Amino acid sequence: MSYLSSILKRCENMAFSELIGQNEAKERLGASLLSEPGHAFLLVGPAGVGKKTLAREFAKGLLCSHPTKDGGCGKCPNCTYISAGTHPDYKELLLPSGEKNIKVADVRSKILSDVGIMSQIAERKVYLIDADGLAEEGQNALLKTLEEPPKHVVFLLTVSDESKLLPTILSRTVSVRLLPNKEEEVYEVLRKRNEELSEEDAKLYAKFSNGVIGYALGLSESNWLISDWEEVSDLILRLPEISRTELLTDVYNFFDEEREHFPDILSLMSMVYDEMAICATVPDSPCLHGEQKKDKMVTVIKQNHFDAAKIAKCNAILTTAQKAFKANGNFEMIVCRMLLALKKENSNG
Ligand SMILES: [Zn+2]
Repeated sequence: MSYLSSILKRCENMAFSELIGQNEAKERLGASLLSEPGHAFLLVGPAGVGKKTLAREFAKGLLCSHPTKDGGCGKCPNCTYISAGTHPDYKELLLPSGEKNIKVADVRSKILSDVGIMSQIAERKVYLIDADGLAEEGQNALLKTLEEPPKHVVFLLTVSDESKLLPTILSRTVSVRLLPNKEEEVYEVLRKRNEELSEEDAKLYAKFSNGVIGYALGLSESNWLISDWEEVSDLILRLPEISRTELLTDVYNFFDEEREHFPDILSLMSMVYDEMAICATVPDSPCLHGEQKKDKMVTVIKQNHFDAAKIAKCNAILTTAQKAFKANGNFEMIVCRMLLALKKENSNG
């Protein structure tokens, strides 16, 4: 089981109100539990934002004998079975790990040939389908059933890139949008899930994840972000005094070793400059760095006359490097040019 799906499994006993954020989506789904829900919903949002977690909770509400607008009651046999992952009227069709697409044969055998069979325990049958895994052929196979589903069937599709869906799929489903969470919400989830995580590290993960909880949780399981963050913030603070030779050997080697994370490292560097911008204007503001590093930051800002204009130029240098990397430019040239340009910008008075 992948890390993310193990997190999702752990979420299965939550009611809507226990899922952090996504209030609008929860309200819409909750309201439809109390009326006659439609036959096909499409949960749209960035990967890792919690679409499947919410869809599972909604499925529980759809199958539950006594649903409220907060989802399933959590006590009836339907809720118990779905929490245990054994409800006979609930099926998931997900992209198998390592595969590019869900096989059309699986769409046929697991969904199309199953929808006509009556439910066993609940009044409905619910199918959760990872539509990101459906190529055009798979979508076409599903289309007819989606157009005229049996009365007892509800489809829950999740997708991060809806532009890959056929217009006919989009027009047959009710879209429910999940937005990235607020930084504080991601922070809250991280601290709840992992009590050993320090306040400082949780803040960094929350900031870096752009509001995507699944991504933040994945980051917090590995070490690279924290160590690279330390490395680049030290580097930026040392830039004015670092020699050109060191820059083009040791420092370059660090970038070369972390090549696979290069876009992330550039984002981290940009976060350091953002911190410097805040620190330059409001020296007392809270800082992602510890106190000791913050003192050093204040000194560097003063000595090298860092101001908003200078920081904007540094960020522009990072953007240029980011674009060149995306366009498959020569890596060594991109990094060395960037480092020299940053050194020049960071050093002059
Ligand atoms: Zn229930």
